Amino acid sequence: MTAVAPLDQLADPVPGGRAGEVERATALGAELAGRGVHGIVLAYVDTAGVCRVKTVPAAKLATAVAWGVGMSPVFDTFLADDSIVTTDVLGSPDGDLRLYPDLDQLTVLAAQPGWAWAPVDRITQDGEPHPGCSRTFLRHLVARAGREHGLDFRAGIEIEWTVALAGVPDDGFVPATTAPAYSATRQVELSDYAAELLAVCAAQGLDVDQFHPEYAAGQFELSIAPLDPVAAADRSVLVRQTVRAVAQRHGLKVSFAPAVRAEGVGNGGHLHLSAWRDGVNLHTGGDRRHGMTATAESFAAGVLAHLPALTAVTAPSPASYLRLKPSQWAGVFTAWGLETREAGLRVIRGTAGLRGRSANLEVKPVDLAANPYLALGCAIGAGLDGIGAGATLPEEITGDPARLDAAEAKARDVRRLPVSLAEAVTEFRADDVLRATLGPVLADAVTAVRQGEIAAVAGFDDERVAAAYRWKY
Ligand code: GLU
Ligand code: MG
Repeated sequence: MTAVAPLDQLADPVPGGRAGEVERATALGAELAGRGVHGIVLAYVDTAGVCRVKTVPAAKLATAVAWGVGMSPVFDTFLADDSIVTTDVLGSPDGDLRLYPDLDQLTVLAAQPGWAWAPVDRITQDGEPHPGCSRTFLRHLVARAGREHGLDFRAGIEIEWTVALAGVPDDGFVPATTAPAYSATRQVELSDYAAELLAVCAAQGLDVDQFHPEYAAGQFELSIAPLDPVAAADRSVLVRQTVRAVAQRHGLKVSFAPAVRAEGVGNGGHLHLSAWRDGVNLHTGGDRRHGMTATAESFAAGVLAHLPALTAVTAPSPASYLRLKPSQWAGVFTAWGLETREAGLRVIRGTAGLRGRSANLEVKPVDLAANPYLALGCAIGAGLDGIGAGATLPEEITGDPARLDAAEAKARDVRRLPVSLAEAVTEFRADDVLRATLGPVLADAVTAVRQGEIAAVAGFDDERVAAAYRWKY
């Protein structure tokens, strides 16, 4: 029942249900009831990066698969504080959409007894794909890359979060452990929580690669084996639901916010991406630097060229810019290097013997306020633009680009990525490729929601920005 990620992309939902799915959902609904599952969480992520849900009783799964579940399109222009902005076509109180669960990703939630979970695609009342649906956007983009370029992709999203004490007055932040970064002490202090998290992930079919105490106070990180991009985005949402649920069972509270405090290392959500053709990883075995093929190099060059604009999608919160500081491993420069942690792009060759599987491109200026479907789709769109142009990478960087003097940085075209959300939005609005990749409805939603977030924190100092978003993601 905990699904293996499908490598072929699911077709769009249709009123009445996709072929064979109603029968499948009927059987599944009965099986779920037998396993004590009462409700199904139907999850999607809004433009601001907040996961919004509706739920249906397990007995209504087949109905949901056939006819969807109603929900307003207004959430496409919700801000993280639940206020609403508008675009030409979004943000109106009118209209309705149908949420269609993806049965291939349906998962019984081991840390939320009585519940199962499924991501949804959203279609209109007329049965058409909703142009504001980020999951549909990514599904279509990946399918098109297959058709037009013969490419498919493997993706992973690193999940970093901070574990805090619950019940602190004024929504304050007290880390659940102050033990050193990466330390055994931290692992011991949160031993029961961590062990249950691993057990729950295994029960849910989440293929955890690694789990470790991270740098910042109370911070941990978990990574999941690479999957096709839609499944990788789904898993990133599910992992966060799971991490939160397990923490709650231990009387703890978690934050995936880019910065729980104004100062110091934040929570990242680095993207790992590799382009494949005919089952072969294009990031290894080629004649370009570090074994990249020409296609992989062009893909990376495309991502690099669009990185400043991409930050409006991958670092979408005012709090994102508290994290995006030099020398904090967040990768805040338009540069690339082999396994360097301070360049925006980190080329990962992988270990000898495993390169065919593991060589990939890591995009670092990404956090978990980002809608993972939009972030992966825009990164892939940027890469495809590089492939289409036959783009090549500049000279690579070693060490921290922050140490380059101004003349050297200029000569190498090493620029600081946007230092504020406003700067990122300016870059995004000038980037025709990213806007076209998203399409007008989503591109306008991104712009309007970012501008709304900027207005929401006007006049705030950094501490107040951190506090405003600390428990939103
Ligand atoms: N926490 C860092 C960030 O905000 C990343 C640390 C790491 O390299 O894993 O991106
Ligand atoms: Mg990390």
